[in-house]
Amino acid sequence: MNIQVQPNTTLNNKTGGWRTLRPNFLHDKCTACAICQRLCPEGIIHQTNQANAAGKKYFDCDLDYCKGCGLCADVCPFKAIVMEVDEK
Ligand code: SF4
Ligand code: SF4
Repeated sequence: MNIQVQPNTTLNNKTGGWRTLRPNFLHDKCTACAICQRLCPEGIIHQTNQANAAGKKYFDCDLDYCKGCGLCADVCPFKAIVMEVDEK
């Protein structure tokens, strides 16, 4: 049985239920550089229409489809994403 999860599959298959960690997007720290959006393997990070104190329209993700891999937190150069234990 192949249980490997391919990239970009969660839009058809919600993965939020088995996630251990979840990303917390710290909106005030976001510079809207879009690096996280480009590197998220699931393509679920988007720019919001909400601006932070610096006037940047910050980014966030759709947790229904986030598998909690932590890549976005690793690549954010401004430490604007932190992984936290997902309390269900
Ligand atoms: S990588 Fe960080 S600073 Fe850049 S858009 Fe994503 S959350 Fe914002
Ligand atoms: S942890 Fe970040 S990079 Fe990984 S699936 Fe969730 S939003 Fe995408």
